[in-house]
Amino acid sequence: MNYKEAVVENGIRMLHSGLTVETWGNISMRDPETGLIYLTPSGMPYDKIVPDDIVVMNSRFEVVEGTRKPTIESGMHIGIMNARPDVNAVIHTHPVDSQIFALLHRDIPPVIDEAAQILRGTVRCAKYGLPGTDELAENVIEALGDGTACLMANHGAVAAGADIDAAFRICTVLEMTAKIYYKALCIGDPQPLDDEKVAIMVDFVANQYGQR
Ligand SMILES: [Zn+2]
Repeated sequence: MNYKEAVVENGIRMLHSGLTVETWGNISMRDPETGLIYLTPSGMPYDKIVPDDIVVMNSRFEVVEGTRKPTIESGMHIGIMNARPDVNAVIHTHPVDSQIFALLHRDIPPVIDEAAQILRGTVRCAKYGLPGTDELAENVIEALGDGTACLMANHGAVAAGADIDAAFRICTVLEMTAKIYYKALCIGDPQPLDDEKVAIMVDFVANQYGQR
């Protein structure tokens, strides 16, 4: 895989997904063979980024290739990957409905089947940290734990997947869940799925779902 081209393509995919606007949000992909991490550059429009703009960094937070400044959240991306060997793609977005809960500092429970299957339980809201700081990265890594997503207080959302398609599925399902949960809260008392049902569905997706 050409990781630089893949990050460029997925930046455009994120822009068109409606999960973020303008130059906000950022994407990273790790090559599991080399351990190198490919990140979007800071503050560049996604439809103008070319492969040479992608910044390549290592697990020690050092730039090893590229002339652009990496995303200001590079410490968060690399910190997540260092903490999670199973994660090879991280997408940070600013999705509207997820952010309703992020500014309330509220978690999003698994209220629909897709959330149980893909988010694997409650999505926690990380404590606030200023953009680009170690504090923000530490808070996100803590809230993410061994999960697939977390909210960033007053800021946005993070999705962590085994690959870039998994990470996209996570951020799409998170935003859909937030949208539905918000509307349900407006008219009543949504009933989250219990841990046992979540565990059954996580196992089903891992071992039985699809054409394998
Ligand atoms: Zn952000």
